[in-house]
Amino acid sequence: MSGAVSRRMLASWLREVGVDYVMLPAAATVSPSGAAVESLDDIRKELVDCRRCPLCAGRATVVFGVGNPRARLMFVGEGPGSEEDRRGEPFVGAAGKRLDQWIARIGLRREDVYIANIVKCRPPGNRAPTPDEAKVCLPYLLRQIRAIRPEIVCTLGATALNFLLGVEEKITRERGKWRERDGVPVLPTYHPAFILRNAARETEAFGDFDALASRLRLPPAK
Ligand code: URA
Repeated sequence: MSGAVSRRMLASWLREVGVDYVMLPAAATVSPSGAAVESLDDIRKELVDCRRCPLCAGRATVVFGVGNPRARLMFVGEGPGSEEDRRGEPFVGAAGKRLDQWIARIGLRREDVYIANIVKCRPPGNRAPTPDEAKVCLPYLLRQIRAIRPEIVCTLGATALNFLLGVEEKITRERGKWRERDGVPVLPTYHPAFILRNAARETEAFGDFDALASRLRLPPAK
């Protein structure tokens, strides 16, 4: 049975039982302009064998990204650490736990949002990616953003802010200020790993998450 038929059947059944519904597109296959948009799976297939930069030599896995392919809110970090490299999922270490707490604070779960990084392979020794590594990998992230079409991208830390927007700014000065990339609103905030070392600044991150919730018109978290 094709997806189109089952959606029609579902629609007629919902009508029959008197349920009001809004049917969303089956997948992110068409942009608002009507142009075809590739799916996250298309991008992932291309990325698994990527050898475009030297980071491929030291990786255990490509850490593509995780979450809701139709997320309204997308987070962008720097690059996988050792735990992420081992498990193939971004933000699963200590910083990831803190990020999950921030997401929960605005009433969402990790599965509701999408999480990706500037580079998909682990930089050795947990260093930041170099400009060359980031430049090679950035097109994949931009394609992920195009496929997901989030309402907001939230960058975590200076590296994500600077490489996504092509700027050289200090996160302490720029966090909480709305920017834009390819028509998508971008809100920079602190990297959760930075907050693990600078707890006094977490209230600023809370403020940024409140701004995200308010722009998305999320109901107050319980
Ligand atoms: N830090 C990042 O920037 N990304 C991860 O995936 C994990 C830690």
